[in-house]
Amino acid sequence: PTAAAQAISRIHTDLFIDGRWSPAASGATFTVENPATGEALAEVADGSADDARRALQTAADHQAAWAATSPRSRSEILYRAYQLIIDRADEIASVMTAEMGKPFAEARGEVAYGAEFFRWFAEEAVRIGGDHTITGDGANRVVVSKQPVGPCVLVTPWNFPLAMGTRKIGPAVAAGCTMVFKPAELTPLTALLLTEILAEAGLPDGVLNVVTTSDPSAVVGEWMTSGKARKVSFTGSTEVGKILLGQAAGTVMRTSMELGGNAPFIVCADADVDRAIEGVMVAKMRNMGQACTAANRIFVHRAVLDEFTEKLSARMGGLVVGDGSHDGTQVGPLVEEKAVDKVTALVSDAVERGAQIVCGGERPDGAGHFYPPTVLTDVDPAADLMHTEIFGPVAAIIPFGSDGAGAAAGSSDDDEVVRLANDTPWGLVGYLFTRDIDRADRLSTQLEVGMVGVNTGLVSNPAAPFGGVKQSGLGREGGRLGIEEFLDVKYIARPIP
Ligand code: ADP
Repeated sequence: PTAAAQAISRIHTDLFIDGRWSPAASGATFTVENPATGEALAEVADGSADDARRALQTAADHQAAWAATSPRSRSEILYRAYQLIIDRADEIASVMTAEMGKPFAEARGEVAYGAEFFRWFAEEAVRIGGDHTITGDGANRVVVSKQPVGPCVLVTPWNFPLAMGTRKIGPAVAAGCTMVFKPAELTPLTALLLTEILAEAGLPDGVLNVVTTSDPSAVVGEWMTSGKARKVSFTGSTEVGKILLGQAAGTVMRTSMELGGNAPFIVCADADVDRAIEGVMVAKMRNMGQACTAANRIFVHRAVLDEFTEKLSARMGGLVVGDGSHDGTQVGPLVEEKAVDKVTALVSDAVERGAQIVCGGERPDGAGHFYPPTVLTDVDPAADLMHTEIFGPVAAIIPFGSDGAGAAAGSSDDDEVVRLANDTPWGLVGYLFTRDIDRADRLSTQLEVGMVGVNTGLVSNPAAPFGGVKQSGLGREGGRLGIEEFLDVKYIARPIP
């Protein structure tokens, strides 16, 4: 057996409630598959609304005692978990590659990134601040302190199976919140391994309760409508985010929503094209394009269009596609066949509307959910892929500006690209390549997004506030702001004697 198969055979595949592993009340399970081969990897407990209720009651029962623990003790649990993840990096990465397809080297990268949220929030746990002032008339103290919001509902997607978990569990633990956690049904194994590691790191029973399920609306719906959860932190599609926001309104829950994106990647006439190529390879191809931060619309100024297109298709066309567990694989499969159907349809729509295929574009036969790295140019701004998250390895180039001109800062070419870039209901991230610092400053301000990468294709970092504006979401994860999402403000008035 492979290392991944051995690791998977040791994972607890039951529900984790009150520190104990137990099957779903119904005894049901669902199958987790390897997207590169289609083979079954494991049977995982298929939780129902009944299991969900028991998990949330457990979280509610443990909230007061957990909130009363010392920040230092919570910090130390996170730090131990961080170290355990690093110690077991290869094992966790191999499980991740098996269940969601990303190449092993990328999975290793996610393990480092995901672990770092625990180290970051271990450091934040002991720095929860407050404020103290005196009222204008000198008669009262205004003491402002922070308290955990209470039991939290955590729902994560499949594309970053470890990091999306640690990015929510880290601040919840640091703040002193208990949790119910539902990982994505396509990738529960990494989350179950993470759960085991947290228990080993000393997380008390009942603080983190995990319900895997093939019926997310039943489990999460139970949590959202019970009145016992005080907060929901969700990462996933805008569509599901809107459902949860509606449910949260019913009991006025705090919400953190990391939803979809439609990232513009802007290459100005004065850009360092080689640097832009490095940037777009990361922004487009990380996770086979299956990231909410993926460069979805690549706007390239006509002055550098030919050079950019040529260099990008050389790089994209040279990538090695295959099973992520094989040495040398640079691009793995998409997560499921539905994803390949979607990408195929988006490419044919773009081509029907006049786009040219520079490389890739042909769906392969055989096992696994593969789609080749593809470059399209002359994409019509009306094409479907301009208005949908592609979530696949397709780089769509939209030329802008006038030939040769446009290098002058403040030109109408800049106005044109800002208008195109902002013409979307989403606003997560934008990327900008220019050598002109004033232009970078102006365009960064004008882009309607929560994050901007200036001459870089990667913005994600545990030390930075991740999040979007418009329909990309509410709230921020990571950075100094991350823990605030899990804290309520309490103001205590004290007359000065
Ligand atoms: P994606 O398409 O990127 O997987 P989804 O929004 O479908 O995004 O999934 C993100 C998470 O939301 C997953 O854990 C999934 O199980 C969960 N989910 C899907 N539908 C619902 C729903 N109706 N209610 C609550 N959670 C849901």
